[in-house]
Amino acid sequence: MLIVRTECELRTALNGKQSVGFVPTMGALHAGHCSLIERARTENDTVVLSIFVNPKQFGPNEDFDSYPRTFQEDKEKAEVAGADIVFAPTADVIYPDGFSTSVDVSAVAEPLCGGGRPGHFKGVATVVARLFGLVQPNRAYFGLKDMQQCMVLQRMVLDLAIPVQLVLCPTVREADGLAMSSRNQYLNGREREIAPMIYQSLQQVLSAYEGGENSVATLELLGRSQLAACTEFEVEYFEVRSVPNLAELKSIPETAAPNIEAKAVCAVAARLGTTRLIDNILLK
Ligand code: AMP
Repeated sequence: MLIVRTECELRTALNGKQSVGFVPTMGALHAGHCSLIERARTENDTVVLSIFVNPKQFGPNEDFDSYPRTFQEDKEKAEVAGADIVFAPTADVIYPDGFSTSVDVSAVAEPLCGGGRPGHFKGVATVVARLFGLVQPNRAYFGLKDMQQCMVLQRMVLDLAIPVQLVLCPTVREADGLAMSSRNQYLNGREREIAPMIYQSLQQVLSAYEGGENSVATLELLGRSQLAACTEFEVEYFEVRSVPNLAELKSIPETAAPNIEAKAVCAVAARLGTTRLIDNILLK
């Protein structure tokens, strides 16, 4: 496995490669990230993993400085999962002097996390567009754990006619249902113990939906009240939205959206202490 830091090293490493699968990350790799690398491994000749903690997607009061950086362990996990090239650029490689473009995907970036994290998706879309230009992958792999990010990037790729196929992969969970996240390590013992209630509340919504409940207001109230019953959670949003546009809904539509094969999504963001956790479940 090759480690490359600059655009020139990356170009040399990719020279003459057939199909390239790309997994962009911010590092602190866990089994969720590794599942993307493993999937890319099965579908491409060459697998590129990027590790870059992107300053543009963090707000001024967010955890950019304290975000876990574990490069040695990441390299080992990436190799085991099947990466060929790790692209670990410094900020000046991604944002060289004079860099001034940003990618604003608008509507789909505005609800849900867009409300609580202004500018976040602009930072994500900008870095991913730049990384796509550098790596020029045939396919790029993203986790549905960050469902809104998937929808934003899908819109960007369509709108800008970027020649890459996005592959959206299922959320990998801990045994108790908690969605794996680099931020889970911020949780203290008590917080970690109750964190799976987020997934349990989503499961409640899913079983009500599968039992025939079609009203979005009823489904949202069910999930939100279940989570809010534990006062340690500060629920930022608990919403059922359309896919792929994340528009408001009154009831679950009859037909599923192609590609994502779901009729709607139920998404939640909640704070436990200082840690903000997100999760979602597709209503199929
Ligand atoms: P991050 O390093 O948090 O930017 O995540 C890099 C990629 O890994 C994104 O596409 C995430 O959606 C994906 N990812 C993060 N956590 C998980 C998970 N638990 N299951 C599947 N994919 C994940």
